[in-house]
Amino acid sequence: MKNQVVYVNSVKDPVKPSPGFAKKRLSTYKLDIMALCGFGCRYCSSNAGNYLRINRRPFAEETERQIGQRLLPAQEPSLTFEWPDVIVNLERQLERRRQAWGRGETLVFSMLTDGFSPRLVKAGTTRKILEMILERTSFRIRVLTKNAIVGSPQWLEFFAAHQDRFVVGLSIGTLSDDWARRIEVGTSLPSARLRALRKLQESGIPTYGMLCPIFPDVMEGGSLERLVDCISPHEVEHIWAEPYNDRVNWATVREGYDEETAGYRWFTETVDMRLSGIDPSIIRELSGIYKPFVKAFKELVSNA
Ligand code: SF4
Repeated sequence: MKNQVVYVNSVKDPVKPSPGFAKKRLSTYKLDIMALCGFGCRYCSSNAGNYLRINRRPFAEETERQIGQRLLPAQEPSLTFEWPDVIVNLERQLERRRQAWGRGETLVFSMLTDGFSPRLVKAGTTRKILEMILERTSFRIRVLTKNAIVGSPQWLEFFAAHQDRFVVGLSIGTLSDDWARRIEVGTSLPSARLRALRKLQESGIPTYGMLCPIFPDVMEGGSLERLVDCISPHEVEHIWAEPYNDRVNWATVREGYDEETAGYRWFTETVDMRLSGIDPSIIRELSGIYKPFVKAFKELVSNA
């Protein structure tokens, strides 16, 4: 996918606390290095998050000014917002800190975007920033990405040289490459992500499982069990799993399914119910996707 790039004001301090991820025991700090991901997953919850919501109008105006069309993140998967001064601002932030900053803490790279977005990897920004964090702080770095490049020889060598500082995960919620092509626009396919995870594990680099997002149809027919098997549950440090967060993007995500499938039917029923004015919390209760999800997943992990 060729990105349509818009440059927006860089945040002053790129490293920030991550209370949401702290609750999930994923990280206590986060580092995003861009404003809108270079990938375009149609279910991405970041598009509805505070940062993009608050900046919706100025970013839309900037998009119109720079590329001649008023595109919005949720509408156009190829759109990406980059921070031209992210390295300079990180440098300034780190100048105010001691090298001991982050000892005993985990920093996730990244939380609202993918720090391995292809343009940033190609420009060397990703590598430069990771080197700065390694050299100038004491954080353990939790890489979270959908880019299988983390399993390439260059990146394996980089992570292997700092095994005590990295734990790497590739988020995956399906084994279907076809589905991912339609919905996880621009990302590495699930099969490639799994190959990358395997290479990381074979190289002795700490890894974790991130099964996310899980859609209700993955709960059926043994799909979740196969997914868990594919990440080698005995080799990862931990496994996290999250169901799909219901956002305004239901209908768009549904287009990734063939009409005859259980996934398409589930979305149709849910969207129809929502359009009928039924509160989403009641829909969740009715569909009952969370209880079986948690129960089945606990069983899987405890049996693994
Ligand atoms: S890779 Fe992650 S942050 Fe990027 S669009 Fe997909 S879900 Fe959103």
